[in-house]
Amino acid sequence: MKFGSKVVHGYKQTRNIQSKATPIYQTSVFSFSSLEELESYYTGESPYLYSRVGNPNTDELGQTVAGLEGAPSGVAASSGLGAILAGILGIAQAGDHLIAAKDLYGGTYHLLATELSAFGISVSFVDFANKQEIVKAIRKETKLLFSETVTNPFLRIENIAHLSTLAKQHELSLMIDNTFSTPYFVQPYKLGADVVVHSATKYIGGHSDVTAGVIIGGEQLMGKVREKVVNLGLNLSPFEAWLASRGVKTLALRMNQQARNAERLAQSLRQHNKIKKVYYPDGLSHKGNGAIVTIELVEGVDMSVFFTSLSWIKIVPSLAGVETTVSYPLGTSHRALPKEAQEELGINERVVRISVGIEEEEDIVKQFQDALSHIKMQKGSSKQ
Ligand SMILES: *Cc1c(COP(=O)(O)O)cnc(C)c1O
Repeated sequence: MKFGSKVVHGYKQTRNIQSKATPIYQTSVFSFSSLEELESYYTGESPYLYSRVGNPNTDELGQTVAGLEGAPSGVAASSGLGAILAGILGIAQAGDHLIAAKDLYGGTYHLLATELSAFGISVSFVDFANKQEIVKAIRKETKLLFSETVTNPFLRIENIAHLSTLAKQHELSLMIDNTFSTPYFVQPYKLGADVVVHSATKYIGGHSDVTAGVIIGGEQLMGKVREKVVNLGLNLSPFEAWLASRGVKTLALRMNQQARNAERLAQSLRQHNKIKKVYYPDGLSHKGNGAIVTIELVEGVDMSVFFTSLSWIKIVPSLAGVETTVSYPLGTSHRALPKEAQEELGINERVVRISVGIEEEEDIVKQFQDALSHIKMQKGSSKQ
């Protein structure tokens, strides 16, 4: 071969490498050396043709999470929102209606409220804490109920078994976003959800280095969901899938440590005179209550001093990494909401959401105590 061809064909792949870690199949397409081999893809003997349609790394992620959730099948998607869209379109079509919890994650709220109408799907947002409200919103074209295991930022625990019973009574499907809880604590599929979705960007990946999503459920439904992922181009890249698959291996260790840290932090903050309220759920699972703690500081505190005094604890408008971080719902996740909606939800300038990391518990508790001791009450405040 001449140079110009050698640069393209100079390496012949060795096929018997026993790599302990899954290799990254960073390829957009797979190759075939005969027409028979090509045919074997279509007869189902060989699994891969084109990476938008299927790739070993994305399959590893989908199947791993499905296994952790106790479900038969799983599909990876390009993001949590991609997973949610594919999950919904696997169930609902033009003319259908779905009922969603009104305290959903902001990005999901936007997806449902602004994009689904283009697919001819209508959405009602209701208070899922009040099951009568759900029943009232059911129409003959309703197909799906959608909520989250644990809501953001005030950490309401959804009663999934109860929702499942309600869904079955009315012949509806139930879809649960299990991002905040993870299958370590709760497995919604086993509690009767038909579809469970994840932003693998969060705890599944766990290291804040990947944007990814996963949808899990029964074989038949996941077949439809996979079609949506393929046809809408919602597939995940091999490298991102590889990162998330690597991250999920430590899910149990991380969640165990992070939840224990969160429990202790919540306890220590409850006793502080500059903290008005601590939100940390109770009764999520016998293994613990997750790793998010939301606090509301007392009136009259200087919030900017609080944030700058947190030192190594950074402001990060996301969650679920191995580092402890804080987010500011009013300035980020809930910024776009009208003022009345913010007030109704209880989101004000003193609400801080803490994503508790894997560090040593004493260091986390001490850093919050230090930051709280730094804040002075603003002038004109009646407290202290
Ligand atoms: C982050 C998040 C999403 C969206 O996931 P992306 O990966 O950012 O698309 C959906 N639901 C919940 C609960 C989330 O925290």
